[in-house]
Amino acid sequence: MRISANFDSGNIQVISADSADNIRLAINKDNQSDFYQWFHYKLFGEAGTEHVMVIENASGSAYPDGWDGYQALASYDRETWFRVPTEYNGKELTIRHTPEQESVYYAYFVPYSYERHQDLIQSAQQSVDCYHELLGETIDGRELNLLVIGEPAEHKNTIWVTARQHPGESMAEWFMEGFLGRLLDDEDGVARKLLDNNVFYIVPNMNPDGSVRGHLRTNAVGTNLNREWAEPSLEKSPEVFYVLKRMEQTGVDMFLDVHGDEALPYNFVAGCEGIPSYDERHKDLENTFKAALLTATPEFQTKYGYDLDAPGQANMTVANSAVGEKFKCLSYTLEMPFKDNADLPDEDFGWSAPRSQRLGEDVLTAILAVSPKLR
Ligand SMILES: [Zn+2]
Repeated sequence: MRISANFDSGNIQVISADSADNIRLAINKDNQSDFYQWFHYKLFGEAGTEHVMVIENASGSAYPDGWDGYQALASYDRETWFRVPTEYNGKELTIRHTPEQESVYYAYFVPYSYERHQDLIQSAQQSVDCYHELLGETIDGRELNLLVIGEPAEHKNTIWVTARQHPGESMAEWFMEGFLGRLLDDEDGVARKLLDNNVFYIVPNMNPDGSVRGHLRTNAVGTNLNREWAEPSLEKSPEVFYVLKRMEQTGVDMFLDVHGDEALPYNFVAGCEGIPSYDERHKDLENTFKAALLTATPEFQTKYGYDLDAPGQANMTVANSAVGEKFKCLSYTLEMPFKDNADLPDEDFGWSAPRSQRLGEDVLTAILAVSPKLR
C-alpha cells in the first residue's frame, strides 16, 4: 500500500499505512499559516478490500462544522468524482471505501489543476472577443492572468469577476469555466447581448500558488488574500495588489467574487449592506440580481446564507466590501457548497464540477437582468 500527495494540489501526511482497515492520516497546514482543510491524495491499495482512512486532525481544521454531513470525493480516472461514505465523530474524519481498482484519488472537492487553468486561459484567448493580459507575478513566480472579454467603450459597464482567492475552493474555478464558456459562445444570445453593453475583466484564479501547493485558504506565504483589500502589499499579497491597481484604472460597475463555503449546503450571495455608502440604489441592484438568479436556476436561494452585517459594520479588508465601497457598485461574494445543495440533493455526486459550471452559466442571465441599472 502506498499513499502519495506528491502532485499538483496534493495534500496529506501519512501517519501510518500498515493495514487497510486502519490508515492514519493528517492534513498539512498551509505554509506559514494555521489554516488547513483541503486534502487530495492517491491511494495505491487493493481492489475489493475495504480501506478505512482516518484523518486524525480533522477537528482542528479551519472549519470543523464543514465535516458535519460531509462526504469525501473519490475518482479512478480523475474526471468523474463521486462521493464515498464519510463520518465525523467530532474529532476524526473517517473515510471508508472499497476500491474497485488498484489506485484511486481522494479529495476534499473536485480538484481544478494548474494544467487545466493554463488550458482555460489559452482556450479563452482563441476568441476574438478575448484579450489576455498579464497582471503581474505571484510570490512563487507564476503568472496572475486577466482575461478581458469584450471591446472597452465609453458606454459599456465594467464588470469584474474574480475567483479562488481561497485556493481550496476549487468549485470557484469550475464556476469560471462555465461562465467563460458561455460568455465566449457567439451563438449564445445572452452572451452577445451582454457584450454589447459590458466589458468583463476576469481573473479565473486569484491564487495559483496556493492552488498548486494544496492550500486551503492562503497564498505562498500564508496570507489570506480576502483580508488584504484595504491595504494589499507586494510582499504579502501581490495578487490583490495587482488586481486592485488594475481596477483603479478601469473603474468597476459590478464585482463578483466567487468562493466555496465549507459548512452551508447551499448556493448564496453575501452583499455589502454593512459598507458606509450602502443606500437604496445599492439595495435595488442587489434585489434585481438575486431575483433574476432565482428565476434562472433552482440551484440558487436566498433563505440561507451569512448573517447580515449591521450598517457600517462591514469588514473593509474583504474584497466585496472594499470594492463595493471604493467604486459604489454592486458587489457580491458568491458562495457554493462543498457538500451539496440541500434543496436539490444528489446522493452520488453532491455539489459537483458540472453543477458549478452550470451556475457560472446561469449567473450571466442574472447579470444581463441587472446590467441596464449598473450605472
Ligand atoms: Zn472563500
